Amino acid sequence: MCPVCGASFRGSAACSRCGADLTIVMSLQASAWRLRRAARNAVREGNSARAHALAAKAQAIHQTPSGAHLELVTAWLQIFADQR
Ligand SMILES: [Zn+2]
Repeated sequence: MCPVCGASFRGSAACSRCGADLTIVMSLQASAWRLRRAARNAVREGNSARAHALAAKAQAIHQTPSGAHLELVTAWLQIFADQR
């Protein structure tokens, strides 16, 4: 959502309600998306420690419900990796 007025974010560079510049919000969302993609790749490569670090970083930048799931799953995978 818009950090200025709270209007829901519609993917445009300016807020539809107050006109605030949302390019920073967009670039943060893109960064979080790239981090989550890298986290999923790390899961496929079996590197659960890296996957969890990337997923947690993505959530710190931009929280989403599915990002929370990814963070939880990678934390869980890391527990099993540590026990091997
Ligand atoms: Zn706004």
